[in-house]
Amino acid sequence: MIVIENVAVATVDAAGTEHADGHVVISDDGRIVAVGAGHAGRYHGPLRHIDGTGCLVTPGLVNTHHHLYQWATRGLALDDTLFGWLTTLYPIWGRLDAEVVGAAAGAGLGWLALSGCTTSMDHHYVFPRDGGDVLEAEIEAARGIGLRFHPTRGSMDLGQKDGGLPPDNIVEDTDAALAATEAAIDRWHDPSPDAMLQIAVAPCSPFSVTSRLMSDAAVLARRKGVRLHTHLAETGDEEDFCRERFGCTPVEYAERLGWLGEDVWLAHGVHLDDAAIARLGETGTGVAHCPSSNARLGAGMARVRELLDHSVSVGLGVDGAASQEASHLGSELRQALFTARLRGGPAAMTAREALAIGTIGGARCLGRQDDIGSLERGKLADLVMWRLDELGHDGIDDKVAALVFGPPATVELALVGGRAVVERGALVNADAEALTRAARRAHRKLMKGL
Ligand code: ZN
Repeated sequence: MIVIENVAVATVDAAGTEHADGHVVISDDGRIVAVGAGHAGRYHGPLRHIDGTGCLVTPGLVNTHHHLYQWATRGLALDDTLFGWLTTLYPIWGRLDAEVVGAAAGAGLGWLALSGCTTSMDHHYVFPRDGGDVLEAEIEAARGIGLRFHPTRGSMDLGQKDGGLPPDNIVEDTDAALAATEAAIDRWHDPSPDAMLQIAVAPCSPFSVTSRLMSDAAVLARRKGVRLHTHLAETGDEEDFCRERFGCTPVEYAERLGWLGEDVWLAHGVHLDDAAIARLGETGTGVAHCPSSNARLGAGMARVRELLDHSVSVGLGVDGAASQEASHLGSELRQALFTARLRGGPAAMTAREALAIGTIGGARCLGRQDDIGSLERGKLADLVMWRLDELGHDGIDDKVAALVFGPPATVELALVGGRAVVERGALVNADAEALTRAARRAHRKLMKGL
């Protein structure tokens, strides 16, 4: 049993309950048994007592969009649009293998943990023929860090010869991609409430995937009872592509293919008209908001205020490290707040709303809202204790404001199902220097000969 006391608590429950001085109690099976004001009651048996003086406890952050392999290709095509950036990087990604992906995923997930993330998805869609089992490699990496992991089996089957953007040698055969996706679900997906590993189905984007793969993937996911994810409405170029090729907007295209619904969450959703936002709300489709990536690629600013007003489940994503070198999920709270306010003025988002999309909003995108995303009795003990009494934050009395408006805060403690993954700003289960060395080797291996 773990008892955390003398700590500010932001539960992010439906009522927005907060305690300026409170406690959280965690059972040995990794669930929250009490959260409230003042001191905890008396508990018997082996007990770890944690003094949270100077800290704020929140639900662990949930990362709803990422491409971990991109950690090995950071800092390239620095001034390009999405399509230019992709065209530069596709040939390099065509050289990926399991060793590179494992090292990149270890570094990316370790860094995510240090930035306050306790659950991350990954969207992997590059499967070179001779690359080995890259999905297994990233799953092993996640186990090594200790994060709850939702990797998606992505795919691309629309190469340049068929009018797509990626080179023909990195796309898969449509049926082979579907078969490999089903095999990944059968091998890895855990539907249980405590699951540390769940798989979703994730064809890459309208300009790299055929309509048949999109619609067959939706049928497959629903037959297997897993979720659906893809990139949608990220850039003006994508919108032009959809209008020219399909004669409709990206969201209309998605709906035509069976890709709107409560089991779907879409990455970006930047270029959405009023009708599209209404349709996402009506169908229960979620959006992974990636404000830093959108800024880095100059893609635009998502209409998050309007999405929230239409009851769309919005989560936060860092997006792949090649289009968002910082990849720091804690900082994404602030970036989301600023992006909303640049679009809609200071009333467009509050610090509490930013924290909510980073936690319970993300949990909804991944279909895990019953088990993670808020601090409530019975939920899994996925939480972060942020240190807020040092130079960068001390004196900001509103602790949630200190976390969101202030600089990135040190993670004093991060628990996943009650198990520590970060303590005093350091990884518990992995060595950050070893992760750095492995990622450096992976980068050099990938870039060799180019
Ligand atoms: Zn992406």
